Amino acid sequence: MITQEHTIEPVLTPEQIQERVAALASQLDQELKGAEPILLGVLNGAFVFLSDLARKMSLPVQVDFCRLASYGTSTESCGQITLSKDCELDLRGRVVLVVEDIVDTGLTVNWLLRHLRARGPKKLKLCSFIDKPERRETQVDLDYVGFTVPRGFLVGYGLDYNQQYRNLPGVGELKFCS
Ligand code: 5GP
Repeated sequence: MITQEHTIEPVLTPEQIQERVAALASQLDQELKGAEPILLGVLNGAFVFLSDLARKMSLPVQVDFCRLASYGTSTESCGQITLSKDCELDLRGRVVLVVEDIVDTGLTVNWLLRHLRARGPKKLKLCSFIDKPERRETQVDLDYVGFTVPRGFLVGYGLDYNQQYRNLPGVGELKFCS
């Protein structure tokens, strides 16, 4: 894997993120009251967001993960989607909250929602840490959004560039040096 020379410009601080995730968690606690929701994280990017969100929620939650492959190169989507790890819990009759890292073109999450609907959940909701609307190719109904960032290739807080930077506590925009 070739890693081009680059810099990272700060976009979201760890403090901003923690404050927003806490607010989302309490909104979810209220709006999903009475349910025992399944938080279904999309690997690998959502692992940090899901773990913070789950620990800030007070509802009894269950956690599962699936993994989709949708990226042709390290920064450009090719629109080809495959499921490389399916979720394992039975979704029939359950309240399921899909937890995504970022929605960009929307192709990946719409494919996943179609796949999950066929499993018969009672309710299927979508929560994305970041909504990046500029390159949207298909309409996505986002129920919960952490932050809207108009554009740029973002890294940190689960988001990677060539598998690097997932462990940064904040989010930055990757800029290639010319
Ligand atoms: P979509 O199908 O919505 O175009 O792409 C969704 C997936 O592309 C995300 O789950 C994420 O893995 C990847 N992706 C989209 N935009 C970015 C970005 O700005 N940074 C990183 N690291 N990944 C992104």
